[in-house]
Amino acid sequence: MTTGILRRLDSFDTDTQAAIRTVRDAMRLARSLEGCTLASTKSDRSPVTMADLAIQAVVARRLAEASPSDSLIAEEDATLLRTDPDLSSQVVEAVRQIIRDATVERVLAWIGDGGSDLGSRFWTLDPIDGTKGFLHGRQYVIALALVVDGGVQMSVIGCPRLSLLHADGPVTIGERPPHGGIAIAVRGHGAWWSSADQNTCSRLAVSTGREVSIARVVQSFEGRHGDPERFARVLHSLGNVQPPSLMDSQAKHVTVAAGASDLLMRFPPNAEFHDAVWDQAAGSLLIEEAGGRVTDLAGQPLDFTGGRRLLRNTGMLASNGLLHRAALEAVQRTR
Ligand code: AMP
Ligand code: MG
Repeated sequence: MTTGILRRLDSFDTDTQAAIRTVRDAMRLARSLEGCTLASTKSDRSPVTMADLAIQAVVARRLAEASPSDSLIAEEDATLLRTDPDLSSQVVEAVRQIIRDATVERVLAWIGDGGSDLGSRFWTLDPIDGTKGFLHGRQYVIALALVVDGGVQMSVIGCPRLSLLHADGPVTIGERPPHGGIAIAVRGHGAWWSSADQNTCSRLAVSTGREVSIARVVQSFEGRHGDPERFARVLHSLGNVQPPSLMDSQAKHVTVAAGASDLLMRFPPNAEFHDAVWDQAAGSLLIEEAGGRVTDLAGQPLDFTGGRRLLRNTGMLASNGLLHRAALEAVQRTR
């Protein structure tokens, strides 16, 4: 739910305000590129479009200006652009919507900034989280987070197709018209939602349901990103018979933080798979700051210090906190 507590965006600290401006520009760019087609399929079979590349360039450039000593860990690299001149000119033209002096060389360098080593203070970006959703008219987000000494300190999630309706009381997810909005979290200062281009935001809070059999569960739209059979076994063990909602990207995390979903589970598709830092950092702080809980499937905190992937964690489980123990126990029972 949103709590009715309002805050002006210009009351946030400088880093957060800069992140909000950057993500809003990135959302505008993403919207203008909706309808673009698949550029390539990466080695892990995940898709990439010119929008992923253009947004990474814009955000990297903005962060380099605002916080030159910070590093960036982001999903895309520039390899594809170096071998595809048509694609690289499309990407440069798109970047110029936001940054007038973009050139091919600069765009390649900005995208390459996302391959930094993890320092004690780094930003992490998924330029288009849910690229399949972006391509097929479903949810996608732009996910940006600041990690300091291993903890997520702040995050901003741009959600071009998500509308959280009802300023006070229970939140429902509006699909049409999709005004979009941004979710903001600052460690120790709460989780917030700002619709469209408003200059205020309202505070988010997780749901208060304690009954796991009627929990509203959300999972990836793409079955291939998880383990649907194990997921079904866990739900069965919880006595939860409603079909889960299917949603791409960290829009799922936003629905948990807003109290519109109660439980989010992510099972790895195989024993070797670990989520990337940019797939969890922004959303996990948002849920915690809304009063919820986030762990891996063993109940351990997510560890953002191990590299580009969360090699020390397997899967993830997020809840309103009240349902967490029961859900973890069901996960353990159905190994
Ligand atoms: P979701 O929409 O929650 O499934 O998350 C989308 C994210 O899943 C993307 O940003 C990718 O980083 C990640 N992903 C891509 N391919 C896979 C895969 N085969 N298994 C699990 N996750 C994947
Ligand atoms: Mg992604």
